[in-house]
Amino acid sequence: MNLKIGTYLVIILLLYSSCSKRKIEADILIKNGIVYNGIDSAASDLTIAITGDKIVFIGNEKDATIEATRTIDASGLIVSPGFIDPHTHADRDLIDTTKSHNRPFLFQGITTVVVGNDGDSFYPSSKYIKLYETQGIGTNAVPLVGHATIREQVMGKSDRKASEEEILKMQELLQEEMDAGAFGMSTGLFYAPGSYADTEEVIALAKIVAENDGIYDTHLRDESSYSVGLIPAIEEAITIGKQAKLPIHISHIKCLGVDVWKQSDSIIKLIESARQEGIEVTANQYPYNASATSLKAAVVPRWAESGGEDSLFIRYKSPQLKQRILAETRKNITRRGGPDKLLIVKIPDSSLVNKSLLEIAQELKISPEETVFEVIKKGYVRVASFNMNPYDIKNFMRQDWVVTGSDGNTGHPRKYGSFPRKFNTYIRKEKIIDVATFINSSTSKTAEIFGIPKRGILNKGYYADIIIFSPETFQDKANYKDAFQLAQGLEYSIINGKISVANGKFTNQLNGKVLKK
Ligand SMILES: [Zn+2]
Repeated sequence: MNLKIGTYLVIILLLYSSCSKRKIEADILIKNGIVYNGIDSAASDLTIAITGDKIVFIGNEKDATIEATRTIDASGLIVSPGFIDPHTHADRDLIDTTKSHNRPFLFQGITTVVVGNDGDSFYPSSKYIKLYETQGIGTNAVPLVGHATIREQVMGKSDRKASEEEILKMQELLQEEMDAGAFGMSTGLFYAPGSYADTEEVIALAKIVAENDGIYDTHLRDESSYSVGLIPAIEEAITIGKQAKLPIHISHIKCLGVDVWKQSDSIIKLIESARQEGIEVTANQYPYNASATSLKAAVVPRWAESGGEDSLFIRYKSPQLKQRILAETRKNITRRGGPDKLLIVKIPDSSLVNKSLLEIAQELKISPEETVFEVIKKGYVRVASFNMNPYDIKNFMRQDWVVTGSDGNTGHPRKYGSFPRKFNTYIRKEKIIDVATFINSSTSKTAEIFGIPKRGILNKGYYADIIIFSPETFQDKANYKDAFQLAQGLEYSIINGKISVANGKFTNQLNGKVLKK
């Protein structure tokens, strides 16, 4: 009797083990890596198999028989979900077939970029989404619809309050953009013409976004002491979330300028209490102490540029207005730390690149505020503005509602270096947060915030957006003097199951897709 039971048991066990050992035919097998899956708080030793664009197996290699076309030995390397960048200005690159590979982002380990930030998106989205799809893009893209873009369609660059009728028209256009595939609405309330909108206008539009389960992403009305002040600007964002009943995401959270340094403690308290109230407030942050924006947006008063560039120079020519414009411009330069803290990174006259506003003023023998108008006459001028305090940078970085972002735009090293810089400087060297926290807040958290389905986690059935990098060498190479150096240390990037980077080299394949909600 006992012998019989024993025999049965052996047979059952044999049957069980042969059934559980699955046979998998895969395109790619990744083994021996240090695997961070995007949600756990530590790494594990797991094997991953990819078939088509999906992860078909993640687990112990002993539990399956995997036959793969290609095997990647990730010994000594970190395997992670591809990074998701919540704030970029990659739109312009993605439509340009000479730049649509998106390599500056790709080599940071980014496999998905959000575009249409700061209130500014391509219009109409449907046309550009189609263009991305037909021409091909090097990373995935998540489109947002810009509030200023919509406002401009209805009201031009006018600085007045929107009428009821205009708000209705904006709501209509916004709905069309959401239907075309936008994940939410971005605002740039600091920039003209977004800055001309009052809170009520933004709430009325955000309600449409809420009906579509979208997100509200904002460049705050004030990150400094320009107009309402930093803390009231955060309060405005929270009010919008509360009134319109939708999640809000604060882009590139910072304390810009000496006037607001060390306000991070009060801001964190404010956001924590809103979160306790049930308002979903999150933020993204780039790991640099300089911001980048157009020189005009940084120091020219908004009222002076109302109506556009031509109107600005007409006002500047009027002797009476000129004095007022110059006085306010001088104040704004001081707010940002002085003319030596504004470094020109992009300008049509390349002889002025890498010079500070102070240096140019000295060469021209005029005041820094007059120099501003001399240089913006030449066309679009972008500056790196050194205005942040390390205390606030680290304070924000430690919060579990803050995710990694780049705000990548041309001329600032953050376009090429944000994610690896955060890893190398703030995780590896300064240990502000641990590796798993860094990875989770660069992958699954961002996917969750933006409502991106089946990405950001290494999980069976999820899309295979996977990166493999060296924990020893993954770092940024771009700096303010040379902002165009690809990051190093990324060995592999797999996007939608296809290899975009192999052995540290771009494979020349455009594997990205425009993602859908
Ligand atoms: Zn911004």
